[in-house]
Amino acid sequence: MTITTESATGSTSDLVVDGAQLIGGEWVASITGRTIDVINPANRDVIARVPRSDEADVDLAIRAAEKAFPAWRDLDASSRARLIFRWADLVEQRGAELDSLESQEVGRPSWGPPPMASQLRFIAGQADKVQGVSLPTRSPESLGFTLREPYGVVGGVIPWNAPGPMFATEVGAAIAAGNTMVMKPAEDAPLTPLALAKLALEAGIPAGVINVVTGYGHEAGAAIPADPRIRRMGFTGSPQTGRLIMEACARNLTPLHLELGGKSPQVVFPDADLDAAIPSMAMGVTLNTGQICAAGTRVVVHRSIHDEVVDRLAAQLQKVTVGPWHQPVAMGPLINEKQHQRVLGYIDLGKEQGAELVTGGGVPKGSDYESGFFIEPTLFDKVSPDMRIAQEEIFGPVLSVLTFDDEAEAIEIANGVDYGLVASVWTRDVGTAVRMTRALQAGQVGVNTPLGAGTVIGGPFGGYKNSGFGRTMGADSVLEWTQVKTVSLQSAPLPR
Ligand code: NAD
Repeated sequence: MTITTESATGSTSDLVVDGAQLIGGEWVASITGRTIDVINPANRDVIARVPRSDEADVDLAIRAAEKAFPAWRDLDASSRARLIFRWADLVEQRGAELDSLESQEVGRPSWGPPPMASQLRFIAGQADKVQGVSLPTRSPESLGFTLREPYGVVGGVIPWNAPGPMFATEVGAAIAAGNTMVMKPAEDAPLTPLALAKLALEAGIPAGVINVVTGYGHEAGAAIPADPRIRRMGFTGSPQTGRLIMEACARNLTPLHLELGGKSPQVVFPDADLDAAIPSMAMGVTLNTGQICAAGTRVVVHRSIHDEVVDRLAAQLQKVTVGPWHQPVAMGPLINEKQHQRVLGYIDLGKEQGAELVTGGGVPKGSDYESGFFIEPTLFDKVSPDMRIAQEEIFGPVLSVLTFDDEAEAIEIANGVDYGLVASVWTRDVGTAVRMTRALQAGQVGVNTPLGAGTVIGGPFGGYKNSGFGRTMGADSVLEWTQVKTVSLQSAPLPR
């Protein structure tokens, strides 16, 4: 059965096959027939059902991927690129429906044309540029060079906060390199990934190259890295789950990359352009309701401008409209009940540990908010570096202000967490910008911009420290999914 999904523009979509997942080019239920309801977190309406799969379904998906691998590997690279370009075209054509679908399952306002088409085009452009190197040899009778080859069947697990872009970048890069993939999207937001997989099939990417298995993490998710037929893994999600994935990979000696959480600092110097910095910093923590790994959740501000920054940030956050996804709103709900309770718990913790609540801190009042997981944009002042709200990832619209007196202290506070995903510096001074960029321990640094290197096209993305390892999205993202073979080619057998 194909369900229709109402889009923001009122048209309908056949992008989701209700109750089905994609294995070997077929839309199939889970073997047990069990399903999971996917809800809209703005009103708790059930918008679709997806299979609740487990190890047995993952086994089928791995078999399908194994069957598809030889032909996909042997397809010349420019043909693989052409198919991914065609996939990108379809994603662009169906952009409004994909945006609507993602809005509904994540509970975010419309973001307009989704970024997946350009992400896929960037990746497709790399597919036929996977190259080895020529190597010197000890004999004029021989040639030496390296080949970059795909791993085979690879696995992926992604979270719910940006399901479309996560799926496109992870799956796109893996298959561009010639691998076939088994991907498990998050149980809260599997619809956009399934829709993208449907468009991949329509684009002509052969059956079994992309397999999407839906279900819970401890069932379908855990079965992927546990299987030794999976030759490489990519995981994006929480550090807790990242550890479990890495342990499973360690048992099979499976290589992997991990994209984990963040606690990103926004360091504000006295010469900063506050007219630009204040709205950007507020946006950085309210976009996607703060459920972004790169969110700049710690404002580290110089004492001389502290009061002005706090006042203006509070006023800016109070301007943010909170509302159900279908209205033009700046901030939707959190993803689910668990996340709602977790964020409210952190707000209580902040108060208990002595931080000063400046604005927000609760559930907005009114009947519109009763059935969804809404929360007010929240600002804490007088936060000290050792408080849990300054150390732990909250994954909600909660901003903490910490104060510094000199550059050395700013660096100590900014780097004084386990995470190192992105960092921002707000200054007009080139010297400060250069020194801070070098000193900050983060995989991306943005100067006068929130969310890291946000305006850069093709910037590698990934973490320092506990934010993970490996890089996605950059010019080498396809190479991450290849392994190197050194070849020695002798014109005649070597003399004995
Ligand atoms: P999560 O770790 O709970 O879940 C992520 C995925 O892992 C889901 O698909 C889930 O079903 C699966 N999973 C859960 N337990 C599993 C297990 N035992 N074995 C295998 N898979 C399992 O994370 P979340 O709450 O969905 O997402 C939020 C986290 O993701 C935050 O920490 C955020 O910072 C991080 N994140 C990181 C990036 C990045 O690129 N660095 C991007 C987005 C989100």
